[in-house]
Amino acid sequence: MLGVLGGGQLGAMFAVAARRLGYRVSVWDQDADAPALKIADLPVSAPFTDPTALDRFAGSISAVTYEWENIPVALGEALEQRLAVRPASRILRILQNRVEQKQFLASHNIPVAPFRPIAAPGDVSVAAASIGFPCLCKTATHGYDGKGQWQLAGPQDLPSVTEQLNQQTHSPWVLEQFLAFDKELSVLVVRGADGDKRVYPTVENVHEAGILRTSRVPAEVDPRLAQRAGALAASVVEALEGVGVFCVELFLMPDGRLFVNEVAPRPHNSGHYTLDACTVSQFEQQVRAVCGLPLGEVRLLCPAVMVNLIGEDCIKVSAGDGLANLFRWPGAKLHLYGKKSVRPGRKMGHVTFLAEKPHEAWASANKLKRMLG
Ligand code: AMP
Repeated sequence: MLGVLGGGQLGAMFAVAARRLGYRVSVWDQDADAPALKIADLPVSAPFTDPTALDRFAGSISAVTYEWENIPVALGEALEQRLAVRPASRILRILQNRVEQKQFLASHNIPVAPFRPIAAPGDVSVAAASIGFPCLCKTATHGYDGKGQWQLAGPQDLPSVTEQLNQQTHSPWVLEQFLAFDKELSVLVVRGADGDKRVYPTVENVHEAGILRTSRVPAEVDPRLAQRAGALAASVVEALEGVGVFCVELFLMPDGRLFVNEVAPRPHNSGHYTLDACTVSQFEQQVRAVCGLPLGEVRLLCPAVMVNLIGEDCIKVSAGDGLANLFRWPGAKLHLYGKKSVRPGRKMGHVTFLAEKPHEAWASANKLKRMLG
């Protein structure tokens, strides 16, 4: 039996991939309504600090991975005493703190936006003075989908941002230069315990209000640039000596420079296209890497564009003839995550459009987005 920490949609997709390869799956999540718990052979619903749950979980599985980088490092370490945790807990420790992550990357000569750690709200002014405006202040831990981020256009924003930091429960923070990028890209990298690596094609992402909206692959960039993005992402995972699936998010600057924004030690929303458009999905790769099996192909079978269904989108998409239309739509693959409640900004599902030509997939994605309003 394989274990996965975190029972969101990524955990559910891992469980489906593992089941297809004949494994049984235990899912541990703190929220009893987490979607992956419902499809687990052994669901564990308890706080991540519960020692009884730890015994039950660890005693039933032979290897473990996670779908969420904010699981306690102490839990990863406790599990490592008994079995293989992939990626290792030392990687969690580096990546779950933006300051440590950026320091790690910078120390390995991987380009990141200039940044300064912020230990206390009062440090923002000095840090901003040395980084310059515009800049962004981000919570070092527990930030996601643009949450825990404050933009500073100029010195006039210092008092209000300082005040907002004073009201936060999570500290410290990191202040980074605002990069006026041309495009956002991401690359999935899979690395096995023997150091074997696979790099998926470079993906182009569009975010709305800090949340991923569309991912298109292949990215509409010069193939040499796409190659460079892949090589940079691979060098990040190599530096980490990571085993598992990683997503490296990048900013492409107008002059062609690439900066690493963020690294996730798990399959990623921008890699969901691999479920329908690749021979081996990111989740099957996660199973393979966790189990020490040979890694799979990263071949793109056809151009694809993924559109996230966020919040009320899932209601709009199923209203009237919506679902019937989607099922009839050539090349459309619908995924709904089965979450109990709809909340603004919550990822409820996605649609991947497959086509022979990139512009056809892109046109379908735009048509759906227009329908969602
Ligand atoms: P993050 O939570 O770091 O992934 O940031 C969420 C989104 O905010 C990114 O996908 C970008 O669109 C934007 N963003 C983050 N950092 C920067 C930056 N240094 N400069 C410009 N935009 C940024």
